[in-house]
Amino acid sequence: MSGVLAILEQQGGSWNRMSLETLAAARQLAGAMGVEASAAVLGDGVDILAGGLAGAGVERVWAVNHELLARYTPDAFAAAAEQLVRRAAPAIVLLPHTYQVRDFAPRLATRFDQALVSDCTGFRVDAQGPVFVRQLFQGKLNADVRLQGPSPWFVSMQAGAFRADEGGQGQAAIESFVPAIEPSTIRTQPSEPFRAAERSVDLTAAEIIVSVGRGIREKDNIAIVEELARALGAELAASRPICDNGWLPMERQVGSSGQTVSPKVYIAVGISGAIQHLVGMKGSKTIVAINKDSEAPIFEVADYGIAGDLFEVVPALTEAVKKARE
Ligand SMILES: Cc1cc2nc3c(=O)[nH]c(=O)nc-3n(C[C@H](O)[C@H](O)[C@H](O)COP(=O)(O)OP(=O)(O)OC[C@H]3O[C@@H](n4cnc5c(N)ncnc54)[C@H](O)[C@@H]3O)c2cc1C
Repeated sequence: MSGVLAILEQQGGSWNRMSLETLAAARQLAGAMGVEASAAVLGDGVDILAGGLAGAGVERVWAVNHELLARYTPDAFAAAAEQLVRRAAPAIVLLPHTYQVRDFAPRLATRFDQALVSDCTGFRVDAQGPVFVRQLFQGKLNADVRLQGPSPWFVSMQAGAFRADEGGQGQAAIESFVPAIEPSTIRTQPSEPFRAAERSVDLTAAEIIVSVGRGIREKDNIAIVEELARALGAELAASRPICDNGWLPMERQVGSSGQTVSPKVYIAVGISGAIQHLVGMKGSKTIVAINKDSEAPIFEVADYGIAGDLFEVVPALTEAVKKARE
């Protein structure tokens, strides 16, 4: 067994963004190990998506089609992925740490007598092989996990750990794979996918996020941060106390018990930078922090910091953005 196989996630013919991050991770890992990188997509009618991966810097793409993969069920996905892994025989299977993967990947790993090394933030390769890094205790500790014993090994990657736009090139061979799935083995009957309320936001897809914390003092003051977000064409997000207070809906919370985001720009306004907040946004490409306490931990992860009163800084920034956009 050799090589790195990335099993990617799609829904209705569109990639989950974390899949493309995992694809980048698989390419880099295979490169560092000097082995082949391949990618697979599961579903019903995924040939077009698979074709799109052909030029993405992997050597092989598996299009795994079956009518019982049209809607996600853990039984069908675990069965299909198991058969694929036995056929493709990779040493390492990388997956994006999505809700779906959390659901079926432990079962998949167990079928190979393995554990899933979940939610990894990175890896390195040394003389003994790859070492994966995962966070413990809400990000207070980083643990190195060395894969030992017989492969395949199963690893899922945290959202934002790799950049999706680190594109590759090349022309991969596309292999069609039809798993054998017995309808009687599927124990769940999926109904229509759940759609959250119309106005629900997908912060993970936002390119710019302006996030507000307890420094804003009261609900009515959020308007000034909202105006900055509007001027920038950004999504508005928040730290947990803001959502706990009901000042913004829970869906806008970033952090360990909220969303994990990795926008191009994350502007933290009046946020101290508690570890539970940092784990949700530290993958952002550029972090800007505005805080009146120059010792606030948020400045340790910030690329640009403004130590000042947000009630002066934010309106001035909004004005400057508006002027620049005129
Ligand atoms: C199990 C668990 C899960 C959690 N999950 C999350 C989570 O998902 N997301 C999350 O965010 N938190 C989470 N928390 C809470 C977290 O520990 C922090 O309490 C929280 O992130 C703090 O929010 P904050 O930075 O907005 O507030 P504070 O820590 O109170 O910071 C406010 C900041 O505003 C600054 N400030 C005040 N006035 C001004 C001003 N006029 N101008 C500029 N700056 C100003 C202050 O200097 C301070 O740094 C969780 C905690 C636990 C225990």
